[in-house]
Amino acid sequence: MKAREYDTDRFDRMRRIPWLDVDAFHRARCLVVGAGALGNEVVKNMVLAGFRDITVIDMDGIVASNLSRCVFFRDSDDESTPKAEVLASRASELDPDVRITPIVSKVQDLENWDCDVILGCLDNISARLHVNSHAMYHKVPYIDGATDGFRGKVQVVLPGGPCLECSMNKSHMNVMDQRFSCTGNSMMYVPKTASEITTTSIIAAIQVREAMKIISGKPDTCLRNVMYYDGLSGTMQDYELSVGRGCPNHEEISE
Ligand SMILES: [Zn+2]
Repeated sequence: MKAREYDTDRFDRMRRIPWLDVDAFHRARCLVVGAGALGNEVVKNMVLAGFRDITVIDMDGIVASNLSRCVFFRDSDDESTPKAEVLASRASELDPDVRITPIVSKVQDLENWDCDVILGCLDNISARLHVNSHAMYHKVPYIDGATDGFRGKVQVVLPGGPCLECSMNKSHMNVMDQRFSCTGNSMMYVPKTASEITTTSIIAAIQVREAMKIISGKPDTCLRNVMYYDGLSGTMQDYELSVGRGCPNHEEISE
């Protein structure tokens, strides 16, 4: 290798982490659900890390309050410009070899779940549970991110392992149903939770890091199973879950 030849490889510095499988990133089929604050940061990290086959689904257009947290959105965007399309287009500028497919739709209408990893960048529990159940059914790893002000959470759901629904009991579900009433129509009520970019960045970075471990063939190193982040104290805490008795996502499906 000639002097400085290594600087012509976009991924040279990443390849110096021996177990990181950048070639596997290139091949992995990734689904990003949600193109808002977390979705922008997740897709940015994925493209920079070498993921090249990304589908991003979101039903919404862009509003001014997105601009404080979304690196790919501009003042000239508005509600007529779908988040998924803008994110796909602008993030593609980071690497000519990336292919980002936007889907402007709610996730409940998604039919093709054929992928290697799902990154959840959602703002409501109903959509999360929908993705969770499809991930479990199709045996696809699901990395769910959430933020609330200076706090955040990442949950890694591996096939057969504890899922989002495992840790929810009935009263929890009832409260969620009231707070996040979603009946499948477009009048879904989503409370405007507090949000700022530093927590969004950290949670999205952890989500993509977990995806890197999974796609590199090291799911055993993934966080188990939920990580809570408190930005005020700068602390993170992992909580291990067990498969919930009666959780419908673990019943054997008979053909
Ligand atoms: Zn479960």
